[in-house]
Amino acid sequence: MTREARLFVVSGPSGVGKGTLVALLRERLTRLGLTVSATTREPRPGEVDGVSYHFLDDAEFERRVGEGEFLEWAWVHGHRYGTLRSEVERVLAEGRSVVLEIDVQGALSVRASHPEAVLVFIEPPSPEELERRLRGRGTEDEASIERRLANARREMSYADRYDVRIVNDDLDRAVDDLAHVIDSYETRSSL
Ligand code: ADP
Ligand code: 5GP
Repeated sequence: MTREARLFVVSGPSGVGKGTLVALLRERLTRLGLTVSATTREPRPGEVDGVSYHFLDDAEFERRVGEGEFLEWAWVHGHRYGTLRSEVERVLAEGRSVVLEIDVQGALSVRASHPEAVLVFIEPPSPEELERRLRGRGTEDEASIERRLANARREMSYADRYDVRIVNDDLDRAVDDLAHVIDSYETRSSL
């Protein structure tokens, strides 16, 4: 069976469980490559520069946009986030698939520049459960939670543009589904 390294994009509203899901996916599929995004937001306690994100100030982010260093970038919750081309190219060149965990605007812009990318949308079981998870995580202040919930309503309206939709109700089942999607697209050309 031949396996082809591919570009996957996982997105969905803030608090739906993308980070949790992708972390478990990586434990299971250790062959996946790792890319580090850039952002202008402040590091949270425990986050490490160059590991969690490349934390850049506005001027440096702007400079890199001007140099064409980003595969995509977007304003998310009042800050800039972007995927560096160099990160994606490095991983694909190693023969490893890339899983980008990025916002909905970024996902749609990857679709435009890389039509072969596989877009996966993670959905919450309900809007109430999404709010519970976002508040339960305890990483945001009230203003940020309100902004993320307002954005979530808009983001949900793009779900039908994705190749695959996965409801993150039962975490183990959702990880199984995501791993199966990755596996089947990587081996698709040999079917
Ligand atoms: P995102 O990366 O999409 O913003 P997180 O991965 O940080 O979301 O998850 C938000 C919160 O929801 C976390 O506290 C996480 O533990 C919890 N969570 C994630 N998936 C589930 C699930 N299937 N059921 C219940 N809680 C979950
Ligand atoms: P957080 O601030 O919680 O780490 O991330 C907030 C949002 O930014 C998440 O929805 C995440 O998917 C998105 N994000 C993270 N990295 C990137 C990126 O490189 N590009 C884009 N467009 N969004 C990103």
